Amino acid sequence: MTLHLDDDELVACVACGLCLPHCPTYRVTGLEIASPRGRIAAMRSVQYDDAPIDAAFVGAMEECVQCRGCEAACPSGVAFGHLMEETRAVLHDTPGARPRLGQRAVEWLGYRIVLPNRVLLRMLTWLIWLAQRLGLVPGRFGLPKLAARDLTIRLDSDPDPEAFLFTGCVMDAWQRAVHRSALAVMRSTGARVAPSPNGGATCCGGLHTHSGRLDEARALARRVIASMPGDVDIVVDSAGCGAAMKDYGRLLGTVESEAFSARVSDFSEWVVERGLPELRTTGRSVVIQDPCHLRHVQHAQGPVHQALALAYDISTTADDGLCCGAGGAYAVYQLQLAAAIRTRKAEAIRNASPMATATVLVASANPGCAMHLGAVAGLDVRHPAELIEEALP
Ligand code: SF4
Ligand code: SF4
Repeated sequence: MTLHLDDDELVACVACGLCLPHCPTYRVTGLEIASPRGRIAAMRSVQYDDAPIDAAFVGAMEECVQCRGCEAACPSGVAFGHLMEETRAVLHDTPGARPRLGQRAVEWLGYRIVLPNRVLLRMLTWLIWLAQRLGLVPGRFGLPKLAARDLTIRLDSDPDPEAFLFTGCVMDAWQRAVHRSALAVMRSTGARVAPSPNGGATCCGGLHTHSGRLDEARALARRVIASMPGDVDIVVDSAGCGAAMKDYGRLLGTVESEAFSARVSDFSEWVVERGLPELRTTGRSVVIQDPCHLRHVQHAQGPVHQALALAYDISTTADDGLCCGAGGAYAVYQLQLAAAIRTRKAEAIRNASPMATATVLVASANPGCAMHLGAVAGLDVRHPAELIEEALP
């Protein structure tokens, strides 16, 4: 059995261990197999030494948050994210490595049917809203409290837009208030802007790539590209979606996909580049949480700090951007590890706050991180777009 991994990428690791302190699963378990070095060694064993794809191997791969903190820290330039994506793709296609039938059916419904379908996703959202009102959704699910007034927000379009805001799937259904704020801040730069036509054809496919569902991810990427032809800028206010869309060139390997990816910017990158109006000083303190897909993958966390510093007293965590444990669907599948990683992150955030108040204001540019951290008492997690909008003149 081979994992079909690129040999150059696989042998690039020199086992120095410098990535270990940057790995959230290693930090909470202390286990070599839960470290980047251990995972790469396990991949090599399968690819070169005929080691079996057994439960231990599958577990080690599935426990990786795919935060890519290791990749950012690696002096040898090991493309860990790519290695893990390809490994997950092989696991997805290996009968013995697949989850049980019930889980497969739920995943099929979620990934194949609901996420790519706006209407179904909105219907499901209203069902969740109703279930929450009836007290039928346990808090341990970590879902944000849905409010009817947020679910019905209309997003206005300017004629002849210079930039589309990609609205996506879950974020469009659950966090339209963030999109509204993002559009308002984008307009404050003097630009004509609009939400992506037809939601940018809904899902970016990032969650699918993480889960090894590469064929579905490619199909979704083609749909997103087809929904926004031309050369209008594409702005993304979800760090995870932005990272996926900036990587369409590699995912699809076409000139068209490369050109599309080059049009994509994170929200803060774009508004800082365009030039924000003079913001009001709020006098409030905010701790900035750098989402992994903004910091380690897009390398675009700087503009968030730059923009928020215009109106807030900003502070940062002293953990080199260690992951919070959200990881797309990770927090659903790896409840205990995700919670343990989150506990460390919440502590780092509290330690970074200069205010001795009960509630710490936190800025996060990724909806998954915001939901995951928002479940921790005492953290008020907001998107940078919302915080900047509050400081507009
Ligand atoms: S992945 Fe990079 S940092 Fe980590 S052990 Fe290998 S070479 Fe060292
Ligand atoms: S991607 Fe994140 S969780 Fe996975 S091995 Fe690297 S640092 Fe650890």
